[in-house]
Amino acid sequence: MTTREQREAALKEAGYNTFLLRSRDVYIDLLTDSGTSAMSDRQWAGLMLGDEAYAGSENFYHLEEAVRRFYGYRHVIPTHQGRGAEHILSRILIRPGDVVPGNMYFTTTRLHQELAGATFTDVIIDEAHDPASEHPFKGDVDLEKLERVLKENPGRVPYVSVAATVNMAGGQPISLANLREVRALASRYGTRVILDATRVAENAWFIQQREPGQQGRPVADIVRELCSLTDGCTMSAKKDPLANIGGFLAVNDDEIAEQARNLVVVYEGLHTYGGMAGRDMEAVAIGIEESVQDDHIRARVGQVLYLGEKLRRWGIPIVVPVGGHGVFLDAKRFLPHVPQEHYPAQALAAALYLDSGVRAMERGIVSAGRDPQTGEERKPRLELVRLTIPRRVYTQAHMDVTAESVYCVFEEREKIRGLRMVFEPKFLRFFQARFEPIGGRLM
Ligand SMILES: *Cc1c(COP(=O)(O)O)cnc(C)c1O
Repeated sequence: MTTREQREAALKEAGYNTFLLRSRDVYIDLLTDSGTSAMSDRQWAGLMLGDEAYAGSENFYHLEEAVRRFYGYRHVIPTHQGRGAEHILSRILIRPGDVVPGNMYFTTTRLHQELAGATFTDVIIDEAHDPASEHPFKGDVDLEKLERVLKENPGRVPYVSVAATVNMAGGQPISLANLREVRALASRYGTRVILDATRVAENAWFIQQREPGQQGRPVADIVRELCSLTDGCTMSAKKDPLANIGGFLAVNDDEIAEQARNLVVVYEGLHTYGGMAGRDMEAVAIGIEESVQDDHIRARVGQVLYLGEKLRRWGIPIVVPVGGHGVFLDAKRFLPHVPQEHYPAQALAAALYLDSGVRAMERGIVSAGRDPQTGEERKPRLELVRLTIPRRVYTQAHMDVTAESVYCVFEEREKIRGLRMVFEPKFLRFFQARFEPIGGRLM
């Protein structure tokens, strides 16, 4: 625990960016659910079985077996984490001038698509951009928007990029029915569907809870069907699969797999470890199996819902329905007096840290970055602060402390001022940008 004076100093030192705080200065860490989960006793035991052979490690075969069994893809190429898989896939499938449609952008995914020469086009349903819309599947693709992109760019759409769940929309799921339609449309236009499978088990849970005809069906079953509708996936094993590090690319096509095995040795490591230690592959393999258990996923998403419902009852503006991995505060309604150019979500995350030492992160104009063509700041409709819940780490009491701190900040919201960016990195600027409060004081 820290005093307010200590937090004030730490925040200034960190340039009002929660990514630049030291973890020892943080009380409850809701920055991200990435690699922050607690591994199980079985995963820790798995670490002891690490086969650290350079080539052909036993743990790679366990990982391959787990991916085949739970996701159903034939070829598995391990990578150091999700973005390593995105990099390799983008280099293989994208040619300069291509267009990649997707259900809302994700920061690293879009950057790798752009660096390979593609333009990303958002084809998510309009409701996803409205934090107050109660649509049960805000991750759904707008099929008319998708068809327009496919029609207008013949031969220029290497794949449709589908995320389950959609992180930037607030952890919102895509429905099975919609993904089936996306699959059919992509096949009709002769293109592929690639899944961002990072939170596919959480997505499957929402399908089980909300989609007609899916009640009572095991999450593991729904996960398999979601994957079966796609040609491959990129995976960050730091999310759903409950590991602290790791990822993979998985595909069915032999030719793409061959190219990926060839590129992975350039950028990640040999095709049977891809930047991971043998023991880490074992932890991922075991985590995959644990991640699709109904009891686990019910408890995991249930904790997120607990925090979300509490804030909602208190009249705090959040994205609804509450998503799978975090509660997203709507900074536009929270701080209506701070214009988007003054980074309201960034300022709100800083104010929350100042109040209690709870660390959240910005998901708004800072994360959206600049348009590579015009150099202008992209202004997303969603200006959010993400309270991300690590898996199997915190208790209900931590959720209560967090909710109470958000409430305190809400009471004092009129005092919070905007920020000015004083250092801007070229890529993924939200990680390392620095700010100063306009008028010298945050609040
Ligand atoms: C985290 C994440 C990634 C990237 O994975 P890393 O392991 O952080 O490189 C890709 N897509 C989504 C939706 C993510 O949340």
